[in-house]
Amino acid sequence: MLIETHAHLDFPEFGDDLEDILARATAAGVEKIITIGTTLASSRAAIALAERYPQVWATVGIHPNHAAESTSQDLEEIDQLCRHPRVVAVGEAGLDYHYLPSRTRSKKGDVTGALLAQTTAKVEEFTHDGAEIAAQKAVFEAQLDMAVRHGLNVVIHQRDSFEDTVDQLRPYSGRLKGVFHCFGGSSEAAAALLELGHLVSFTGIVTFKNAGLVRETASRVPDGSFMVETDCPYLAPVPHRGGRCEPAYVQEVARTLATERGVTLDSLAAQTSKTAEEFFRFNR
Ligand SMILES: [Zn+2]
Ligand SMILES: [Zn+2]
Repeated sequence: MLIETHAHLDFPEFGDDLEDILARATAAGVEKIITIGTTLASSRAAIALAERYPQVWATVGIHPNHAAESTSQDLEEIDQLCRHPRVVAVGEAGLDYHYLPSRTRSKKGDVTGALLAQTTAKVEEFTHDGAEIAAQKAVFEAQLDMAVRHGLNVVIHQRDSFEDTVDQLRPYSGRLKGVFHCFGGSSEAAAALLELGHLVSFTGIVTFKNAGLVRETASRVPDGSFMVETDCPYLAPVPHRGGRCEPAYVQEVARTLATERGVTLDSLAAQTSKTAEEFFRFNR
């Protein structure tokens, strides 16, 4: 039995054939699927799916890329949703600096060669970066406090923001656990998280040819410190790479981890499921 700990079943990619997808997951030995909220609307949709399908559970939260557009009213409503019996964590929450204004716009900035215009544009971009980062940090903190209030753990999303994310999380050690989902870092980075009481989870990236570093990390992290996920519809593992991902493919993630760690698929599945049961505390 496997637990798929990170899926986006409410995304439009699954609008046409969700029943088939859930049937394929069951056939692949996936006993539970956690569908992850990314906005207030997505969190509500996640709960609706969890109410409809007994194997589906929900998280509620605001993804950092939606932090700037979210309101305090959104956060208050998510706080209310935390009480729902099918909600098993807050998130995905965290920091994501990958799409900061200065990174996404700077290429357009230098077409004219007008130095002054560029400089002005740069200053503006950094001002926008500051506002974006401040919004993400505020929404992340609100969700960490929310998790503590409700006794829930947190699904953490970070991209190009590892140190800031860990810094913001540090004062919460002992009050909540986070899972750094889609973990792609070194075993040293993983060890630093475990030290603070957190976990990691691995996606189909572990099956990619060029992902030697994360495979090495996955082979070294201690038993009980990691879970498996797909992050579907993204990151389809080999041999489905490039196509739409779905929860059944978590088996490919688990199979690769089992090979790397020199254990059977059954043993890897049992161990990661036990970790997920302890982290999410279904039916608590
Ligand atoms: Zn994420
Ligand atoms: Zn996600």
